[in-house]
Amino acid sequence: MKIGILGGGLTGLSLAYFLGEDAEVLEKDDVCGGLCRTVVKDGYSYDYGGHIIFSRDGEVLKFMEDILGENKVRYRRNNRIWFKGRFVKYPFENDLAALPKEDIYECLHHFLTRNYPEPKNFKEWCYYRFGKGIAERYIIPYSEKIWNIETDKMGLEWVRGRIPEPPLEDVLKSALGIETEGYTHQLYFYYPKIGGIEALIHAIKAKVARVERNFCVRQVRKSNDRLVVSDGARERVYNRLVSTIPIFDLLRSLEDVPQEVQRAAKRLRYNSLICVMIAVRSGKPSDKFAVYFPQRELKFHRVCFYDYFGNSCVPQGKTLAVAEITVNKGDGTCEMGDEELVEHVIAGLEKEGFIARGDVCATDVSRREYAYVVNDLHYSGNLRVIHDFINARGITLCGRFSEWKYLNMDACIRSAMKTAEDLR
Ligand SMILES: Cc1cc2nc3c(=O)[nH]c(=O)nc-3n(C[C@H](O)[C@H](O)[C@H](O)COP(=O)(O)OP(=O)(O)OC[C@H]3O[C@@H](n4cnc5c(N)ncnc54)[C@H](O)[C@@H]3O)c2cc1C
Repeated sequence: MKIGILGGGLTGLSLAYFLGEDAEVLEKDDVCGGLCRTVVKDGYSYDYGGHIIFSRDGEVLKFMEDILGENKVRYRRNNRIWFKGRFVKYPFENDLAALPKEDIYECLHHFLTRNYPEPKNFKEWCYYRFGKGIAERYIIPYSEKIWNIETDKMGLEWVRGRIPEPPLEDVLKSALGIETEGYTHQLYFYYPKIGGIEALIHAIKAKVARVERNFCVRQVRKSNDRLVVSDGARERVYNRLVSTIPIFDLLRSLEDVPQEVQRAAKRLRYNSLICVMIAVRSGKPSDKFAVYFPQRELKFHRVCFYDYFGNSCVPQGKTLAVAEITVNKGDGTCEMGDEELVEHVIAGLEKEGFIARGDVCATDVSRREYAYVVNDLHYSGNLRVIHDFINARGITLCGRFSEWKYLNMDACIRSAMKTAEDLR
């Protein structure tokens, strides 16, 4: 076999698809998909954090559209931020008129009069870009929940292009109540008709020649000009190797990793995710998919309502709310038991008027170790040391936790396309 691909998540499978017969995927789990898996529990299904299909990259979007074929529905975004007991359209700066009058004034005044020096960290950037009003009411508290780190400890590499600049005209219109839309590249999105986001994985996997499941990569070594991969029992030999598995797993499998590289790896920061599913008996399906919660007293930052997709994920007459909580080992929340987490989410959603405790009919909790790469202030320096070392070992890195970048599904597929071209 010419090319070995470590990891059968979206990146690994896409890469195998683009490479064709020459490639083989090694996946540690029984089911492929990684972060794009869908949990099925008591007739309900939900993803590891709400996943929707969108892209500015026309070629990649078409790839996802085509591979799903008939199994997709196009939706118009209707997400909201929950702020002082009212819904504000997402993104926040495009619906200032929905705020109480004092808040509209504060947001608009500070947006128009902002005058900050070039930002050096994410917190400064929030003030610089949005002004104190919007920054302190929404962007900073929400970001500190999803990133689980103070915003002044975050760098700026990931921000540009991801959080667009709000045009002056839009902010003025939004304060006056004239309809505007932000983040227009995700105003319309797709979601599979059946099978949750994992349907995308199965559609790609069906066209991939070789996938070896239950193969947990434990050792990678060089032998002559080849790379030998082992799970402790089986061995595979390849001419070229691409890793899409988390960078820590790869480093653990390599011999003679220098101290400097190990130190840099220890300093890399990432977040884990807990999803808390709360199913309730209800009369009507939700007209919103995602609701964002900047309130610091609530541990969850976002709740996705899967009944928004009709009955594809949720039985008739039920609502499925899945709360997302970002955690790190040792932060206290990560150590909370499932029952305690469920209780926190039910109490929070009931207090905010979203559900009635008596209507809850099923719950579930699922955890994902690797969810978000965190761009702290030392991100680039640490990453360079590790990437240089791995490249020198002749291994190509591709994918979210392998490249260690905040890549969405479309960016993973683009990276796989590029890697396939480079290897040909
Ligand atoms: C909460 C959340 C919401 C998201 N929402 C969206 C969205 O709406 N739209 C969007 O486009 N993107 C979204 N994303 C991003 C998307 O999930 C990722 O970009 C994508 O799934 C990453 O795929 P990957 O293959 O690079 O990594 P992974 O999915 O992490 O895959 C890595 C694979 O390697 C395997 N593996 C690990 N260790 C080993 C080993 N030792 N041996 C063999 N195999 C191993 C794993 O089991 C896994 O299958 C979201 C992500 C999160 C966390």
